[in-house]
Amino acid sequence: MTGPARLKGIAASIGVAVGPARVIGRERRRLSYRRIEEGAISSELARFEEAVSRSRAEIEAAKQELTERHGSTYAAILDVYLLMHGDALLIDATSEAIRNDRVNAEWALSRVTERLKQPLLEDASSYFQERARDIEHVGEHLLRHLGGEQRSELSTDVPTVLIAHDLTPADAVRMLAPPTVGLVTEMGAGSSHTAILARTFGVPAVVGVGPLPIEIEDDEVVLVDGFAGEVTVGPSAKERRAAETRRDRFAAFLKAERSTSAVTRDGVSISVTANVELPSEVQAALENGAEGIGLYRTEFMCLDHMEPPSEDEQLEVYRGVVSAMAPKRVVFRTFDWRGDKRLRARELGERERAWLKTQINAVLRASGEGSVALMFPMVATVDEFCRARALVEECRSEVSDERARSAKLPIGMMVEVPSAALLAERFAQQADFFAVGTNDLAHYTLAFDRRDSRSAARPLDPAVLGLLDRAITAARDAQLPCSMCGDMAADPVALCLALGLGYRQISVPVRIVPLVRAVIRNVDLQVAAEVARDGLRCGSADEVRELVIDRLDAHLGALWKEQGIV
Ligand code: PEP
Ligand code: MG
Repeated sequence: MTGPARLKGIAASIGVAVGPARVIGRERRRLSYRRIEEGAISSELARFEEAVSRSRAEIEAAKQELTERHGSTYAAILDVYLLMHGDALLIDATSEAIRNDRVNAEWALSRVTERLKQPLLEDASSYFQERARDIEHVGEHLLRHLGGEQRSELSTDVPTVLIAHDLTPADAVRMLAPPTVGLVTEMGAGSSHTAILARTFGVPAVVGVGPLPIEIEDDEVVLVDGFAGEVTVGPSAKERRAAETRRDRFAAFLKAERSTSAVTRDGVSISVTANVELPSEVQAALENGAEGIGLYRTEFMCLDHMEPPSEDEQLEVYRGVVSAMAPKRVVFRTFDWRGDKRLRARELGERERAWLKTQINAVLRASGEGSVALMFPMVATVDEFCRARALVEECRSEVSDERARSAKLPIGMMVEVPSAALLAERFAQQADFFAVGTNDLAHYTLAFDRRDSRSAARPLDPAVLGLLDRAITAARDAQLPCSMCGDMAADPVALCLALGLGYRQISVPVRIVPLVRAVIRNVDLQVAAEVARDGLRCGSADEVRELVIDRLDAHLGALWKEQGIV
């Protein structure tokens, strides 16, 4: 290559990473067609079977590693991949295609995976889209083994930057751990599961860069700027040194801020809690001085499962988290299935109702271990929320554990659908607390799809700010606790506006907790409130952002610039 290549994408997880590339999914692009002679069919079939068994062994090993890291509930996400290694529609159909069409195994496999994927991709539901990606992933795994590649995705010790077309949430849980230090994906959006997991693991990430215009080779040095959403392939020595300095400075800054306070310049204490997806994050939440867990995304224990874990399996996870955090509060959110939203409290089917009750029972039983609250996602109507509340009472009356029956369990709701923000005063009469989800709220307000990598809804848009204002005002009037747990709170610029609107409880990804506290300490709430008032009258998200940067520069400019945020 002549000079560095630069790619622009969505800044999905802040920080800077530098390292050799690890390209996943290249197999798809290098497919070749070969016709097989009659006499060579059996050896081609044997080659395919050998690849299947090597691939299966590799996933078994990854499952073992995942169990050690996050526990057995999470390792089970790989069971779907393992099952697919024995699937007649995939494995037997490929063997048949080799035999009947007399084509090489790679070609046969790619035809079969395409055929299986297509109908799933045509379905709009994210559930089926993810199943299609599972097939694609297993197909790529097998192709890699057909190519005789022995490498294990998790076995190298060299810090690497993962380059992928896309990652399923299950891949992300598995691969966004050391030695991965950075992530670049062609697809993906800023609030997709993959982006959330990159933030969870503190892996700087740029997603949605689009089809790679260049061929990135394994081991080529890649620089990921998770602040600016920029990727440099083959940076100069000078660029590389500068990036390494920024990376180390940011890491040192986060470490130094671990036990600082979150009191504004004018002396107001802000509560900063953590958003958690995996139990293995609890330790880091405590080390970073989080005042509790403001959002526990329970659906991450169901990634790629056909159904949620049993009550006892869930109880084990919840109990562990609650007792480790005690006496600090843990807010569990019931499963949020996105796209198809199968567990919404309205119009629940028998099966979904049973799943939800299983989860509520597990939370009730865990609540004896410490301070626990429960909230429902995607609440759109008051009636829906009342039914969800009634379901909790039903569970409480049925549970045999006496401690669980009398447990104090505040019941809250996410305010993340425009209707909930618009009628926030009415919801405030029914809920014990609000947690505002700016990711969904922005997308639903501005009619964006969260999976769309070409564009992202911005919470600083004045229309969204108006709804955020309504929610916090209604909560304040009703003296209802109201936190902001969407990613607006994790953006060191947008956070200032949230504070200006009146938000005093903030919940952010674990790794960002120290950064958020540093921002808070530099904010003067009176100035922030004026900026928020003016922001509501602006014409666009860009205008609002510029306004915040301009008006708060005197107090925050040094911090923003020092860390490369603006
Ligand atoms: C949100 O929508 O802002 C939110 C916090 O929930 P999630 O990102 O899990 O949908
Ligand atoms: Mg949401």
